[in-house]
Amino acid sequence: MKAMMLTGIGNMEMREIPEPMITKPNEVKIKMAVLGVCGSDIHYYLRGKIGSQLVQYPFPVGHEGAGLVVEVGSEVKRVKRGDQIAIEPAMPCWECDQCLAGRPHTCRKLKFLGCPGQADGCLKEYIIMPEESCFPLYPGQSFDQGAISEPLAIGVYAVKKSMPMKGATIGILGFGPIGMSVMLAAKAQGAKAIYITDKINLRLKLAQKEGASWTGNPDEVKVLDTIKSIESLMLDVVFECCGKQEAVDQAIDLLKPGGKLMIIGIPEFDRWSFPVDKTRHKEITIQNIRRQVECVQPSLDYMQKGLIKIDNMISHRYPFVRTKEAFDLVANYRDGAMKVMIDFD
Ligand SMILES: [Zn+2]
Ligand SMILES: [Zn+2]
Repeated sequence: MKAMMLTGIGNMEMREIPEPMITKPNEVKIKMAVLGVCGSDIHYYLRGKIGSQLVQYPFPVGHEGAGLVVEVGSEVKRVKRGDQIAIEPAMPCWECDQCLAGRPHTCRKLKFLGCPGQADGCLKEYIIMPEESCFPLYPGQSFDQGAISEPLAIGVYAVKKSMPMKGATIGILGFGPIGMSVMLAAKAQGAKAIYITDKINLRLKLAQKEGASWTGNPDEVKVLDTIKSIESLMLDVVFECCGKQEAVDQAIDLLKPGGKLMIIGIPEFDRWSFPVDKTRHKEITIQNIRRQVECVQPSLDYMQKGLIKIDNMISHRYPFVRTKEAFDLVANYRDGAMKVMIDFD
C-alpha cells in the first residue's frame, strides 16, 4: 500500500510499504477515506519536531482521519466491517494513574497517531486502531464530519474546561481551525458575545459569517481599546489559539478580574512569559489545554443535531498523491486556507 512519509525538513515522499495486519483481538483495520491537515502536522513537516518530540525519518504524520472499517479482530464490539467511522487518534493504556483518574489524554504510556516515537500517522491507505478509537458516524454523516470531529473536539473540550458559556463574554485570539472550533462550541453552548482577532482578514470575514460579535485584525485596529469601548467590564474567558506571545499578553489585558486564560495554541518557542502584576492583581487563572478527552462523541452529536456546522471550515481539498501541496498551502497560510482535506480516492 501507499504511505506518504516525511523524509526531511519540508520534504515528503510517497512510499510503498506492507499493508498492516490485525494482530490483537481488539484491533480494527481501517481504509482511510479523508484526512484533515493539522497545524501540528505542519510543525513536524517544517521543523521536524514539536518541543521534545523529534521526527525520525521516514515518518508518516496525520491524525485527523475518517475511514471505512474493512476488518475487525475477534473481540471487537464497537464497530463492524462496512462501518464508516471517525478515528480518535489517542491510544491510551487504560491502566495508569492518569487513565484511571479519567485523564487518558495525559496517559503515561499514551500512543497518539502521527506523533513521533508513539505511532505512525494515518497518511496511509490502511491503518490499524484499537476499537476504543473507532467512533461510528451517524447515517448520513460525512467522512469530513468524522475527520473534523478531532479538531472540533479540542474546541468542545477547551470550552468545557473554561466556564459555563450561557451569558459569557469571550475572546478568541487566532481564528484558524482550532479557534473556529472553539467558537462553534461556545456558540452552540450559548456564549453571549464572541470577540475574535486574527491577522488574516479572510479569516475574520469567515468569523463574521459564523456569527462573531466583533472581529479585528491587531495589525489594523486597537483591539484592547475597541473591545473596552463595547464591553466595559471586559471578558470572562480568552482562548489563545495562535501560539503567539503577543496574543497571551493581549489576552491578559482583555480579561476581567477573575477571568480565565485558556492556552491552546502551540508556540514555536519554549517559554511563555506572563506579567506578574496584571495576572496577580486580576487573579487570572491560566489553563493549558492538552488536546481533548471524551469530546469526540459530543462533537459528532453536535454536528448530527445541526448545532454545529463545519462546512465553512473546509477551504481546500487535495488527492492523497498531492499531499505535499496541501501541506505547503497550510504552511504558508495561502489562499485563505483553513482546514485542508486530503482525499484518499
Ligand atoms: Zn489535529
Ligand atoms: Zn494510561
